Amino acid sequence: MTEQPPVRTTTPRQVRPEGAPANTGIRQVRPKTEGWQQAKDETGRPLLQFASPKRGKPPVHLADLTYDERVATLKKLGLPGFRAKQLEKHYFTHYTSDAADMTDLPASGREELVAGMLPPLLTEVRRLETDRGDTIKFLWKLHDGALVESVLMRYPGRITLCVSSQAGCGMNCPFCATGQAGLTRNMSAAEIIEQIVRANALIAAGGLGGKKSSDHSLDRVSNIVFMGMGEPLANYARVMQAVRVMVDKEHGLGMSARGITVSTVGLVPAIKKLADEDIPVTFALSLHAPDDHLRDELIPVNSRWKVDEALDAARAYFDKTGRRVSIEYALIKDMNDHAWRADLLAEKLNARGRGWVHVNPIPLNPTPGSIWTASEVPVQNEFVRRLNDAGIPTTLRDTRGKEIDGACGQLVATEEDEAAAEATPVG
Ligand code: SF4
Repeated sequence: MTEQPPVRTTTPRQVRPEGAPANTGIRQVRPKTEGWQQAKDETGRPLLQFASPKRGKPPVHLADLTYDERVATLKKLGLPGFRAKQLEKHYFTHYTSDAADMTDLPASGREELVAGMLPPLLTEVRRLETDRGDTIKFLWKLHDGALVESVLMRYPGRITLCVSSQAGCGMNCPFCATGQAGLTRNMSAAEIIEQIVRANALIAAGGLGGKKSSDHSLDRVSNIVFMGMGEPLANYARVMQAVRVMVDKEHGLGMSARGITVSTVGLVPAIKKLADEDIPVTFALSLHAPDDHLRDELIPVNSRWKVDEALDAARAYFDKTGRRVSIEYALIKDMNDHAWRADLLAEKLNARGRGWVHVNPIPLNPTPGSIWTASEVPVQNEFVRRLNDAGIPTTLRDTRGKEIDGACGQLVATEEDEAAAEATPVG
């Protein structure tokens, strides 16, 4: 590529260069991996792993089961069904799996009952906090040694937890640390829920900082974003069971569906399924490029479902649920942050109607010397301005968590994490 100084205009409308803009004077950095080799399939395309490799399954836990299944399990153990409600209360309201706390259960057989219904799922390996303590990243070890992470963030009026839904990820995005090692396995519904319960226990014990005396936010996680490790819609059944437990007021965590954001890089059939679920979660499409030419390289699953198909499915989600869709767009310097791409994105969104979508550009973490680095601030602002001017509500998103490598696409166990995990016994 001939390197030329970037040409940025502030004219109201840029004409989209066809394909690679080699001779337009616009600098175009193309995606590639840095320091690791992307696994390829037999056709030479980046490998996509949809199926979870076979590994030992995590123990079945109360949160994996529906209420009826919980009662049936207890009855099989010769216990009355109402014990299910008692266990639910301890776990979902008091955030405990410790038999010693459950004095309302008969002492005889209590340990066995709790060990069977609430087996340990996550062992904390490390915890990293920002200076003010209002963002905390947890590294968890699963029963089979797989490592996953979650990030807890306090904002004024809400507490958000970014959860993992898979150990690793099979979507092989070249910019993403999580995708590098491929998919280790799907997480169970209870492993997803346990991330929330453990975060709630920490908040209840006063372990999350940043609370102002004027802040009347709930003292538990209020918002969930599925933007940790994994592609949630590739683990559809377990993620949906976890979502059902999150919103269940009687037998689960009783959270608001609106506060739960399920995101995807664009698994179109699963988006359609999600729209039919009748649980009005917030749906987010991680688009990152409005043109197939770039997106084919940036998000390998685009080779399966193209930009227009993903946007059609997103619009259909809105039609079905009435919930406004979020488009996530990581702004990457000279790769996808061009003014013409903002215009093309606006054009494609407007072509599908008004008022159904919101765009969240998020500057990538600044990484000197890497092609994967944040757009310059004037470029970010211009990108946002163009979309807003075209009538698409657009807000630059907070990059909270980047100080501790907790921003999206950054969640991956480091060598140091692996060493700490090695030294941490499970359970
Ligand atoms: S960006 Fe998301 S979908 Fe892509 S590899 Fe990373 S975790 Fe998977």
